[in-house]
Amino acid sequence: MPGLIDRHRGRLPFAPGDPVVSLGEGSTPLVQAPRLSARAGAEVWLKVEGANPTGSFKDRGMTCAVSAAVREGARAIICASTGNTAASAAAYAARAGLRGAVIVPEGKIAAGKLAQALVHGARVVALKGNFDEALRLVRELTDRQPIALVNSINEFRIEGQKTAAFELLDDLDGELEALCIPVGNAGNITAYWRGFRESGARPRMLGFQAAGAAPLVQGEPVEHPETVASAIRIGNPARWEDAMDAMTSSGGAVSAVSDEQILEAYRLLAVEEGIFCEPASAASVAGLLAHGAKGARRVVCVLTGHGLKDPDVALAQAGAIVPCAPELEAIERAVLE
Ligand SMILES: *Cc1c(COP(=O)(O)O)cnc(C)c1O
Repeated sequence: MPGLIDRHRGRLPFAPGDPVVSLGEGSTPLVQAPRLSARAGAEVWLKVEGANPTGSFKDRGMTCAVSAAVREGARAIICASTGNTAASAAAYAARAGLRGAVIVPEGKIAAGKLAQALVHGARVVALKGNFDEALRLVRELTDRQPIALVNSINEFRIEGQKTAAFELLDDLDGELEALCIPVGNAGNITAYWRGFRESGARPRMLGFQAAGAAPLVQGEPVEHPETVASAIRIGNPARWEDAMDAMTSSGGAVSAVSDEQILEAYRLLAVEEGIFCEPASAASVAGLLAHGAKGARRVVCVLTGHGLKDPDVALAQAGAIVPCAPELEAIERAVLE
């Protein structure tokens, strides 16, 4: 399967012959969710972005940001990250033969994401501060040093991520009335809206933030954002205006969901639909269940990242392991009880 630059080159800022750094990202599954549809009273589809090469949608933006960095002659890339941008940047830097550095909030990054960033050989810097502070510092650093910044303030990230909207319209023959999506730094909702607009589509953009990290809902930055959904633990989104424009001009809305609602949706997706996403991703489904589809008949929920990213939350939410002696009767009891 070719990567998304090769597939969508005519609609991306890349010319034939430009260097392409790809891991075969994009073309992710769109899965119908019958049980969720019954609960929501709408036809619900799940865009499974955890199926990207490093397990999150960030790869769509990263193939473009890193390819552009190589085209510009960069030797190194850097990002601030709640985890998935770091994992993706580390993998694409390795692929491109560039040096990669990632700045993460100390103690606040899920185990799988940290393992990815480290195993791909990036320099992982743990900041005694939150994501918003990390982003401010890397912006200042890249003003002083010739290092390419690959956060979603980089336009190439948005360009790459808009391809998910193209895929949805292709898969659903353009019939899609609402998109439910978690919102953190607000790059992804910006990207989907751009992709839809460029295709002449206008589904309602329904953005969801965690209640403890909901600056767009509250209308002001949150100084100490807190949520179990670490990927959207962001208090001052860089794409604030773009995100609000997407939701307002599409007749959508931004709403908050509690951590309990997020975890309930997370378990429901795993147990009833067989899909394991990370907590931040479940905010889209939590939002749909809590706030409704706003009259939409067909809805897509974006599941932004894979559940294996955050094994600690998974084990804390799941049932207990059943111990058993190595005897037939004991196994029979353990299995059938
Ligand atoms: C990055 C990320 C988000 C938030 O996307 P933004 O573009 O920052 O709004 C949501 N879920 C997951 C799993 C992510 O990695």
